[in-house]
Amino acid sequence: MERSGSFEDGVFPLDVWQRGIKHLQGELDPQIFSAYIEPLKPAAYDKDNCELTVAAPSKLVCNHVDQNFKDKIREIISDKLGMSDIHVRFSVDPSLSDSISEFEAGKPVVIKKTRSMSLAQGSPAVESGIRFGQPINPRYTFENFVVGSSNQFCHAAAMRVAENPGQSYNPLFIYSGVGLGKTHLLHAIGNAVLRNRPSARVVYMSSESFTNQLIQSLRHARMDEFKNRMRAIEVLLIDDIQFMCGKERTQEEFFHTFNALYNAKHQIVITSDKIPQDIPGIEERLKTRFSWGLTADLQAPDFETRVAILKRKAALEKIQLPADVAQYIAEKISSNVRELEGAFTRLHAISSLQGVPISLELAESALKPLVQPKQINVTVDDIKSAVAQHFGIKVSEMVSKRRTKNLSFPRHIAMYLCRKHTTCSYPEIGTHFGGRDHSSVIHAANVVKSKLENVDEVKEHIAKIEQMLFG
Ligand code: ADP
Ligand code: MG
Repeated sequence: MERSGSFEDGVFPLDVWQRGIKHLQGELDPQIFSAYIEPLKPAAYDKDNCELTVAAPSKLVCNHVDQNFKDKIREIISDKLGMSDIHVRFSVDPSLSDSISEFEAGKPVVIKKTRSMSLAQGSPAVESGIRFGQPINPRYTFENFVVGSSNQFCHAAAMRVAENPGQSYNPLFIYSGVGLGKTHLLHAIGNAVLRNRPSARVVYMSSESFTNQLIQSLRHARMDEFKNRMRAIEVLLIDDIQFMCGKERTQEEFFHTFNALYNAKHQIVITSDKIPQDIPGIEERLKTRFSWGLTADLQAPDFETRVAILKRKAALEKIQLPADVAQYIAEKISSNVRELEGAFTRLHAISSLQGVPISLELAESALKPLVQPKQINVTVDDIKSAVAQHFGIKVSEMVSKRRTKNLSFPRHIAMYLCRKHTTCSYPEIGTHFGGRDHSSVIHAANVVKSKLENVDEVKEHIAKIEQMLFG
């Protein structure tokens, strides 16, 4: 027991808190701990009511810890203080947000060196800052996934896997076109497994992140560590496997990881833009294995599902969305959910910038560029000038070799837009941007794509540039 009640009202000793949460560190996956628990701070203590307020850096983290870790935290703190009737509540303190901003932006968490992070099977603790896995987005849950006939089967399979990892479909292979919910379902599986068992070793990573981590491990001569860590995973969620195409060393290592996990009856879930047999540049032996379990696809949602998705999103973000506007957007944007959400975000951005409520009239004008973009032909030069103008830089600077952030970010956006709105190939785009290699263009487009999913600011830049291009 610590110094029960010996501290002043209003103040909760940080050292007691830190000793308390150390217990959780041993029990939780390091990523979960560093994403959710580490950023918390005791904010206030109300002695009369035995109530401890704990500050979280964002609403997301606040809600997640409230739902998943409140009882555990109360138990630990009351044990430390020898008080059985302590209450814990959470509040948001944005000043703590430095530690979490990377996480919310969907960037990989760097696992810090700690003593208690040794893994199962006696593998060594992480001694370096090697990145492992990517954070699971708490917003991507089954509850937030709207089910319709287009995705019912896949959703049911994912739920089944989350309830009984390794027992039903292994691997579960999910495929679809872009923006139809593959990544969302992968995270939903991760969130559900962790909710049932917070100590489960769940790892989400894109196949590119797998490659990057492999490269880092090779570079630092830490392959044993990499192998041990990969093979100790209980639920491995691998996103966009098609990006392993042509990467032989990655495929070789993934093959061994797959076999080890499969034989141990650990769950593997993979997503791709195609069925296994149609993915180019992937070894036959992997394609065969990908088809061992269940292959399920996601189709574009029908009109009713699109309306329901918009309503869910509006409710989640506490934005008023009149029914006629939801129907209007759903009618006009039918290709995929990401575009549907993009249209809604754009409408919301314009409504708040102009200080007017969302209405059908505003939707009609705000979504015009999204509804008819293909009828207007833009050239690479149009895109270069629009991007340069938007960011206040010169076109010549944008295509130069300089790599400062104020130039490389607009350059990446411009390359992405060229790929999206022109028929140019990656090598052709490279030529238009100072003779860059096609792989730099692919990298740039992918960086922007992944930021588009996670960073609202990037969505807004793109919305504004497209508005300039398409009127
Ligand atoms: P993919 O990985 O297939 O490209 P994502 O999972 O990234 O697609 O989905 C794009 C966006 O659409 C995400 O914000 C996701 O939450 C949302 N989304 C997709 N399908 C649904 C759905 N059925 N219900 C709610 N949101 C969805
Ligand atoms: Mg995805």
